Amino acid sequence: MTSKLRETGGEVREEAAASWAAVVATARRSVADGLVVGTSGNVSARVGDLVLVTPSGVPYDRLTPDDITGVDLTGRQVLGTLVPTSELPMHLAVYRTTDARAIVHTHAVHATAVSTLVPELPLVHYMAAALGGPVRVAPYATYGTDELAEHMLRALVDRSGCLLQNHGTLTYGATLDQAYDRTAQLEWMCRLWLTASSVPGLTPSLLTEAQIAEVGERLKGYGQRR
Ligand code: 13P
Ligand code: ZN
Repeated sequence: MTSKLRETGGEVREEAAASWAAVVATARRSVADGLVVGTSGNVSARVGDLVLVTPSGVPYDRLTPDDITGVDLTGRQVLGTLVPTSELPMHLAVYRTTDARAIVHTHAVHATAVSTLVPELPLVHYMAAALGGPVRVAPYATYGTDELAEHMLRALVDRSGCLLQNHGTLTYGATLDQAYDRTAQLEWMCRLWLTASSVPGLTPSLLTEAQIAEVGERLKGYGQRR
């Protein structure tokens, strides 16, 4: 464990160590599920004012508890010695402006394909409501830049996920599982739209924003409520 983490209070240390394990597990899952190839993409989680992030360019199966990598909300490294993800500007921009507790960024293939075709994912399925409405595509900018983070923030207004043109996906949530599930649903919807819109001579029917808003309300009561 790094010295900085050893100095912090026991409770914070335990929470950070548990969150780091969850960040690494989520990053590994993105590779296992085919949403990420190699060291593409990155994952983060916020614990208080500490942001745990995957390090840049390190295969996720090599990460150990000792590799915990943390920055503060200004991007200053406070934990670990590995260089943090190159997409810190995107992660920090989301934490500074939303109530996000976790972020998943991938280069999922169907989502990235859609990002090259349209400025917004057509409303082909009601699960768009799980991301707050029609998912926008943030205009292209070089990876790791403040410009990309600015484009992403605009695309995220009233949404918990967006596509990044010719690049990939970014979703956030209250937990790593929620952020991850939103990425998986987004990739699935993009695959659905590509499949439906590639039938020659036919065009998929689309839902209205009003229908999506109705589902958004209904989803608040979805699942086991007892
Ligand atoms: P990192 O390995 O620096 O996280 O970069 C991967 C990536 O997806 C950049 O957009
Ligand atoms: Zn990327």
